[in-house]
Amino acid sequence: MMISTKKIVMVPGPVPVSSSVLRTLADETQSHTDPNFTEAFQSLLAELRAMLHCDGVAFVIAGSGTMGMEMAAANVISKEDKVLLCTNGFFGDRYISICEKRGYNLDVMRAQWGRSITADEVGKALTEGGHSVLIMTHVETSTGTMIQLEEIAKMLREKHPEVIFIVDGVAACGGAMVDMTWGIDVYFSCSQKALGCVPGMALLWANNRALAKREAIGAIPESYVDFDRWVPVMRDTKKYWGTPAVNSIQALKEAIRLVKEEGYETRCKRHADDAALITASMEAIGFKTACEGEFRAPTLSVFLYPEDMTVGDAEFRDAILKEGGLVAGCLGDFAGKGFRMGHMANLDKHMLLCYVGAVERACLRCGMKTEPGAALAVMQKGLAARD
Ligand code: PMP
Repeated sequence: MMISTKKIVMVPGPVPVSSSVLRTLADETQSHTDPNFTEAFQSLLAELRAMLHCDGVAFVIAGSGTMGMEMAAANVISKEDKVLLCTNGFFGDRYISICEKRGYNLDVMRAQWGRSITADEVGKALTEGGHSVLIMTHVETSTGTMIQLEEIAKMLREKHPEVIFIVDGVAACGGAMVDMTWGIDVYFSCSQKALGCVPGMALLWANNRALAKREAIGAIPESYVDFDRWVPVMRDTKKYWGTPAVNSIQALKEAIRLVKEEGYETRCKRHADDAALITASMEAIGFKTACEGEFRAPTLSVFLYPEDMTVGDAEFRDAILKEGGLVAGCLGDFAGKGFRMGHMANLDKHMLLCYVGAVERACLRCGMKTEPGAALAVMQKGLAARD
């Protein structure tokens, strides 16, 4: 029997997880009251606050990124607010449904798929609409686009300082630059993407302005995601509200140690370099990214199929799977027209080659006119030029 090919995760999260993180996860479960754990958790929270320059509180709570979306909304938006929600695709649209269910006074701005809403466009809409809350998605996972976050946040502080700014950083944090002092009030992410940990935790940062807004709102109906319940725990991890995910938190601490060791800025530069190199490699075999250049996300790509593609979407993704890579299908406007590849967290040179190699072999397997090695040649040259 032939040895089976290892299946590699190439979706935009969960991501391949470093062995030291996985080993930590397997450590014996501690009590959440064990001083070793409470101290480790406390120092993780301090590291997370420092990472994003957050003057308020960092939260790590069991749940997924969607819980972060709900937690941000529940704690800093009230029915008296006027909310502007800018959506660049599927996950922005998910936030619309969350806000609508909560009965908020909501205006929606939509970008054409593959583009992002710009600082000028947001500024104009806020001036016209007089909104008190702005929600945006840092990296939109359905289109592979990134907003110009620093520019938008700085525009807000200059022209609309009263607006509370909530940012969905689920597909960005750990691979794209973010600094709360630019003017972001709430930023949230999750464990399973560019931070390089296993799924299961939402991470959320709230600055002092957001905490003050929470206080001004008064009691909210939620319990599990209520800041009022969790702030005392995140400030003093010896306190209790819900049992923390002890093994996962220790694993996240190791994942953050790796982020710190690399340096956040260096890590973001690596993600941008990887994205450029993967794009160039894929272009060499006829694939194009779906987003316009200036909006290109560093953490994932939507690759549209070549025009002369002779096989269907499902068949092609199945061929990649047979070659050992699991990619994601496209959503919304791009459904059936391409596939999504995550390239985030701790991918090394071997992994980058594997990713492109699996796609190239799938092209050959499907009888496409791909020159064997064309994509790999671009990747190899790029990798060899790096330290
Ligand atoms: N926002 C964005 C931008 C996402 O990419 C995702 C998940 N891909 C989510 C929110 C939801 O996160 P989760 O699947 O962890 O609930």
